[in-house]
Amino acid sequence: MQLPDLLNPYWFFITTAIFFIIITGRYFLFAGLFYTIFYLWLPKKWISRKLNNRNYKDGQFKKEVGWSMVTAFIFSVSGTITMIFWQRGFTKVYTDINLYGWWYLPCSLVIFMVLHETYYYWLHRWMHKPKVFKIVHKIHHDSNITSPFTAFSFHPLEGLLQAVFLPVMLMLLPVHYYIIIIQLTIMTMSSVINHLDIEIYPRNFNKTIIGKWLIGATHHSLHHKHFKFNYGLYFTVWDKIKKTESPLYDKLFDTITKARQQEDIVIYSSASSANNPLTKKAH
Ligand SMILES: [Zn+2]
Ligand SMILES: [Zn+2]
Repeated sequence: MQLPDLLNPYWFFITTAIFFIIITGRYFLFAGLFYTIFYLWLPKKWISRKLNNRNYKDGQFKKEVGWSMVTAFIFSVSGTITMIFWQRGFTKVYTDINLYGWWYLPCSLVIFMVLHETYYYWLHRWMHKPKVFKIVHKIHHDSNITSPFTAFSFHPLEGLLQAVFLPVMLMLLPVHYYIIIIQLTIMTMSSVINHLDIEIYPRNFNKTIIGKWLIGATHHSLHHKHFKFNYGLYFTVWDKIKKTESPLYDKLFDTITKARQQEDIVIYSSASSANNPLTKKAH
């Protein structure tokens, strides 16, 4: 099937609109699904895993969804531009699996994610420089207590900085288009899990061979709380190498994943308890 030239304004608009529907659909699917399961259907089961028990700010979800729509629009335009690059032969995206073999599919996914992690970690460190933070990254941190809807809640400049990674990467690394779809789906799901504010991983997962390298809700909640730790995206590797992983992480993970009665929930409640991270909250 021959695709029309996407540089034509009409087709540029149509393609961007299709991307927007897919990207927002994926966002609402994952954020909505996790919110429904953990907050609406099974709140009693998961209340002891809630990292912050304070209420969300008035209108927070609405703002988060609004900023996420702006991000989705930026990602959509970036997607169309990437397609134009592909049409003109500027990318290394391929469609015939046999070109690099089946074994290369998982390898390229891992390479892609590790490079994305590296890009994001250092971008994130830069975005926390005070002058940059105020303009680029503050919107994301306005969600002091995160929710599944925080997943794409970024200032447009941050959205843009995140969006450039994909087209640049696809010009350098051969990637099958299946892997692009899988990677973008993992990215959305992982962002929803990390902002859920409910730890869903099993007890002691943080000490397992896989779990110690994966970021989850507890890990990222500490970033939104203290700003100066836990800058990673999917993996803890750069935080471990650069010693920016929060010293409170393992203790908080242990505490939050212990089965507790509702009246004895130990909650890590506010920044003011930074030196005494585990504060008992009586109901
Ligand atoms: Zn975040
Ligand atoms: Zn941050």
